[in-house]
Amino acid sequence: MEEAQHREYVVKNPATGEESGRYIQMDAAAVDAAVRVARGFFTTWAATSFEQRSRIFRKASALLAERAANYADEICAETGKTRFDALLSDIGSTCDLLSHLAKHAEKYLAPVEVPSGFLMPGRKATYGFEPKGVIGIIAPWNYPLSLAAGPTVSGLAAGNTVVLKPSSQTTRSGLILKEILVKAGLPGQAFQVVTGDGSVTGQALIEHTGLDMIAFTGSTEVGRRVQAEAAKRLTPTLMELGGKDVAIVTQHANLDRAASAIVWAGFTHCGQTCMSTEVILVERAVYEPFKRLLADLTKALKSGTRAGEIGAMTLASQVDIVKRQLEDATLKGATVLASGQTLEGPGQYMPPTLLTDTTPEMAVRREETFGPLHVVIPFDTLEEAIEIANQTEYGLSGSVFTQDLEEGRRIAQALHTGSVNINDALITYAIPSLPFGGVKQSGMGRYHGAIGLQSFTNIKSMTEYKGRMKREFYWYPVRPGSDRILAHALKVMYSRNVFRRIWGSLRALGSLVGVVLKGS
Ligand code: NAD
Repeated sequence: MEEAQHREYVVKNPATGEESGRYIQMDAAAVDAAVRVARGFFTTWAATSFEQRSRIFRKASALLAERAANYADEICAETGKTRFDALLSDIGSTCDLLSHLAKHAEKYLAPVEVPSGFLMPGRKATYGFEPKGVIGIIAPWNYPLSLAAGPTVSGLAAGNTVVLKPSSQTTRSGLILKEILVKAGLPGQAFQVVTGDGSVTGQALIEHTGLDMIAFTGSTEVGRRVQAEAAKRLTPTLMELGGKDVAIVTQHANLDRAASAIVWAGFTHCGQTCMSTEVILVERAVYEPFKRLLADLTKALKSGTRAGEIGAMTLASQVDIVKRQLEDATLKGATVLASGQTLEGPGQYMPPTLLTDTTPEMAVRREETFGPLHVVIPFDTLEEAIEIANQTEYGLSGSVFTQDLEEGRRIAQALHTGSVNINDALITYAIPSLPFGGVKQSGMGRYHGAIGLQSFTNIKSMTEYKGRMKREFYWYPVRPGSDRILAHALKVMYSRNVFRRIWGSLRALGSLVGVVLKGS
């Protein structure tokens, strides 16, 4: 991406080096105008019915599917990913999410009735979900349509208006999302897209005082800055940050399935996935045959957007990070187990590469790679595997491969991550009813599923009383002796000693009679 002229920037296709788009770099005034439009329309959008919103989402899903091939080409032109990747992980998952929320949002946000408890009998206690207001959304470039759609469609489904800042590299994907929603009937004011880079447009958005929530997806480093800015105004945030996912392969695994899943999960979109399988832990008993399987599959991979299975690296800066980690590891003694093939072409291609003989001091073991470079490590006991897996500062997702499901669940429970797949990898995001998000430095909060949709709302608790009593026992004036009755009543309710409970009920009754007689 380079400056073309004042306030305009050019996006280049990472697979060809050609220009793929030209956009306006919006400044603080333009961001302010967008937030004001969203704010002005909030009450109108919040008043729409779930049925109206569902109709729009269903239609948007259909429009996206009908024009999938064209939109996929546009996504490829700014990410460098393969058409198959764009169709599966951007377009497919966005169609799925739109249809899912069209069908389930009303149920997910229905008021919930709960017991009112001992002290407050006879009340109807409920809690409900109200839209927060204007949600500021900042999205990354790796899955530019689906990772913009996740928080945007959730925000809109819950009755909020939205201001989205896509990554400048993938501006068009943010605009595609707006295009299909508006074509499907969404009033344009409900969803504003502000274009530009992080330091100008993104910074202006997070500094804006008119946001009721910020949903950020991106690196942990920038996430910390966004969180610090939001803290100044106590603006609630949803943080979807970096990861360094681990796959554990035990001796009970179906090795063919495990190897295929891991090679796909590690190298899809050239490893530029927050949930990429970057660390592969293999039980010693199957280490040698598993390594051979991984090596064979990796060597057969071809990078290249047209003829290959692995697309280009989207950003030159990311290529540098991967090269630095590879150099650091090999200088410190790591061995290249296998490397894929890179087809001829002008693009930013990097061959998928697996390393062995790595040590915890190497950058590739400590830092997120976010590229096609992963490590294979043997382990002797499951405890050791879990310890290595939990050593990372990240905790986004992980996977376990074993045909002994009891063993798989035990390992899954021990992993400090936001999600785990058993005999699969990377797929929790693609199931829109599963809450998605990380722990530790991978973020906080969830979207997707009922819990995820609710996080775009303010929860309001309510009570209703429709009885005939004129007053409650705790209102003024509190009758003399009420403290004794309450003390005995608490014993009756909560003491675990049966004699105390009987004694308490007799004393409570006695005190009550006393109070009533005195009062009469
Ligand atoms: P990034 O942090 O560089 O940028 C993310 C977004 O933040 C972009 O839109 C960028 O323009 C914006 N931004 C940058 N500086 C900003 C600032 N000062 N104020 C406001 N906005 C600013 O991340 P990236 O390179 O786009 O994406 C890669 C990272 O995102 C990786 O670390 C990856 O693991 C992570 N990621 C996480 C998830 C998840 O769901 N947990 C999903 C995808 C990517």
